[in-house]
Amino acid sequence: EDPILEIRDTSVTFSMDRGESRVLDDVSLDIQRNEIFGVVGESGSGKSMLASALLDAVVDPGMLRGEITYHPTANEDVDILDMSKEELREFRWEEISMVFQGAMSSFNPVRPIRTHFVETLEAHDYDIEAGMQRACDILRDLYLDPERILDSYAHELSGGMKQRALIALSLILEPEVLVMDEPTAALDLLMQRSIISLIEEIKEEYDLSIVFITHDLPLVADIADRIGVLYAFEFAEIGETEEILEDAAHPYTRLLLKSTPNLDSPIEAMRPVEGSAPDPVSVPQGCSFHPRCPLATETCRTDDPGPYEVDGTHHVHCHHWQQARDEIPMTDEFDE
Ligand code: SF4
Ligand code: MG
Repeated sequence: EDPILEIRDTSVTFSMDRGESRVLDDVSLDIQRNEIFGVVGESGSGKSMLASALLDAVVDPGMLRGEITYHPTANEDVDILDMSKEELREFRWEEISMVFQGAMSSFNPVRPIRTHFVETLEAHDYDIEAGMQRACDILRDLYLDPERILDSYAHELSGGMKQRALIALSLILEPEVLVMDEPTAALDLLMQRSIISLIEEIKEEYDLSIVFITHDLPLVADIADRIGVLYAFEFAEIGETEEILEDAAHPYTRLLLKSTPNLDSPIEAMRPVEGSAPDPVSVPQGCSFHPRCPLATETCRTDDPGPYEVDGTHHVHCHHWQQARDEIPMTDEFDE
């Protein structure tokens, strides 16, 4: 156990005319140093809100509460939610950096890619020459020709090239943590897989800890050391990837896996789990999954479950997880 991030009882709420909307609900989680932690959930489950919370970047009027502690490798611990605006400005990019979906819109179309690197270095008072040297090294590690990429405009690059250029940019100030929110969503399957293996390579090369957020279960299964399954703004289950894939303990995870024909097929081949995700202003009482759960009992409708320890590294928020393992198959035997 060597956490680089400790997230404790962290919530995000919005006040709306219809009531209070809870879009992150008391999440507690450790991200271990040098792991790839995969966060998987349907759209509207709170994935992007978790990413924003990690960078204290929740937009107004969202209220972010809780405690997030960053343990850098060589320096003193930092309480992320306690930083001043100026401290945060430095912290983002230099300590925790973010890559998200839509590399397309991340680059200014009328400025060459180089400008984005130079301006990021300038804004953080980094040495331009050394920084651009590093940029070239990272681009080469991502199998790109540095001079060609830096002199191009975004529209001259393919989606995969742009996404890799964006990853290089996110690493230029030597962060220790990389938060990636649907980083490959706009790319075709082949390009997705090749970017996934590049992410694994740069993780080793640059000593990164990565939070990889996606709705794509096969993709996250491919890359993550551990997986957290988000449902209705909180984790249903967290465990090592192999353990989750082979022996998930939460009914929702088991149904998700059952709806995935096989982990090598694209996300489009998945059939959705029956029922729909709850509205953030009216998340069901007790276990938020109970309206969709085949095992729901009276207890489930009233008592917020767990977390229960399945084993040392595997935790689940379900009152009846043992029964779920016995009664909810993870494969659909009637197919094929
Ligand atoms: Fe289903 Fe109850 Fe478990 Fe929730 S606590 S997932 S409703 S069995
Ligand atoms: Mg999202």
